[in-house]
Amino acid sequence: MTKTKKYLLSFLILLIPFSLMADEGAPKTSGLSFWQLLLTPKYIAVFIVAVIGIILLFFNQFNTRNRTIFLLVSFLLFGVVTIFIHTLFLSPSPVCSTTKPFIYGPKPPFFATILVIGVLSIIATKGFCGNACPVGALQELLYNIPILKKLKRNRIPFKISNTIRIIIAIIFIIIAFAFGTSIYYYINLFDLIHWEFDMPALELAEFIVFTLLMLFLSMIFFRPFCYLICPMGLFTWILEQFSIMKVRVKKDSCDMCGACEIASPCPAIKDIINNKKIKADCHLCGICLSSCSKNSLYFGVK
Ligand code: SF4
Ligand code: SF4
Repeated sequence: MTKTKKYLLSFLILLIPFSLMADEGAPKTSGLSFWQLLLTPKYIAVFIVAVIGIILLFFNQFNTRNRTIFLLVSFLLFGVVTIFIHTLFLSPSPVCSTTKPFIYGPKPPFFATILVIGVLSIIATKGFCGNACPVGALQELLYNIPILKKLKRNRIPFKISNTIRIIIAIIFIIIAFAFGTSIYYYINLFDLIHWEFDMPALELAEFIVFTLLMLFLSMIFFRPFCYLICPMGLFTWILEQFSIMKVRVKKDSCDMCGACEIASPCPAIKDIINNKKIKADCHLCGICLSSCSKNSLYFGVK
């Protein structure tokens, strides 16, 4: 696919929210219109944090310390401070944004979220997921705790994780249309950052088991919820194939030594080095960039 076709396709994908919201009669759950929502503190803060992350990576400033501080800020800002400053609360959560329209029909907050995340993903691979998602940040912070190092050498092959993520999404769509409910109600790590645990006993037990499992897996695998379950992860993975800024390899200086593959926690770097057309999700952690002694990897526009 040529560059022009890629950008045209991305533009068309992102046009969907605009065209749907052009309907004056569209329901407004929060009392705000689609355009008013885009100017609320939550969306502006998400955009600013994501752009700061993109700039830091562009100048290769994501060493372990900087990345940890950055992720902590992101998690605290959108995952904890929200208890006190509700305007920063990522509600609807990215999971709800991608799924609730299938059940309740399109509403402005969902499309505003999808548009902001979509634009960020087109600017840079996982511009939102890699930088401004509190659940993504929490998983990466847990992965970076230097324990269970031997287990961390194992990677879930992307073909398997992506197939699981797609199958879950397909089952969701079938159940949503057939029964008007969502399977993501039971497998949503964003429930943790709602910080509301007043629920029926059975529901609470399921929530605790799922959350603990995901948090434990995060210490072994890089962002398991993102790669295996999150529908927003699936949406942004599709978009990142068209991203303008991404991790790239200088073919003339790369001798395929494999050092970056060993150092990186993700399945994406292998696809990048091998110049695969469809690549696994890259969450912009920056580890691969600093692992190459020949400076053959960079983040930017071609
Ligand atoms: S894939 Fe989902 S959980 Fe992961 S960073 Fe993106 S929105 Fe957050
Ligand atoms: S290590 Fe993987 S996720 Fe991190 S920037 Fe490199 S390719 Fe992306």
